[in-house]
Amino acid sequence: MDSGGLAELDGRIIGCRACPRLVEWREEVARTKRAAFADETYWGRPVPGFGPADASLLIVGLAPAAHGANRTGRMFTGDRSGDVLYQALYDVGLASRSTAVSADDGLSLYGVRITSPVRCAPPANKPTPEERDACRPWLVRELELLRPSLRAVVVLGAFGWQAVLPAFAEVGWVVPRPRPAFAHGARLTLGARLSPGSIELFGCFHVSQRNTFTGRLTPAMLRDVLGTAAGAAGLPTKPYAS
Ligand code: SF4
Repeated sequence: MDSGGLAELDGRIIGCRACPRLVEWREEVARTKRAAFADETYWGRPVPGFGPADASLLIVGLAPAAHGANRTGRMFTGDRSGDVLYQALYDVGLASRSTAVSADDGLSLYGVRITSPVRCAPPANKPTPEERDACRPWLVRELELLRPSLRAVVVLGAFGWQAVLPAFAEVGWVVPRPRPAFAHGARLTLGARLSPGSIELFGCFHVSQRNTFTGRLTPAMLRDVLGTAAGAAGLPTKPYAS
């Protein structure tokens, strides 16, 4: 696996300033901070993917949260969405611990990488279509580097689903036409034009507070999707409640 390639990619992503609105926002949030984190130094830059370079399962979110990953510099780390996601990853046996509080907290992922189609925190968690498209080359390159080991992908929410399908097509997987619609529990196989072969794609409601606080996405629902996707990716899981 080209781990140097992925590490180099992460380094290039961190320096990106292609979207003026997002650069301004992420840096303003890092300057003004939330009162609870006033004594912390915010990351305030694009957030690279997190997880091993030979991951067989990829989780795709939306974009970093202003006071979560934009603060800590690691995907889904330091916010309520991440609390739910990492607890579920731990419950099914894909993470070394159930909490993610900072980039140096010692958390490891087992065979799983987490990324997002937009790498900078957007105002109101809403990137524009132009910003999504500007950021796609980073995702495409990440997928190219993961392709030798990648077997399954879980996409959290409709935005990520719509952003990732064109990236899959660019990298060499066959995306049906018309494009399949996002749904929680959606599962489809994307054939490959190139080796090593197809991948299994799973849809899951996003772990946003809007979904988890209302019960639209329960911990059991999330564990079920992650556990099934881990099986499709050939990853061992531990017994979990569903
Ligand atoms: Fe660069 Fe992506 Fe951030 Fe835009 S959203 S500045 S393309 S890293």
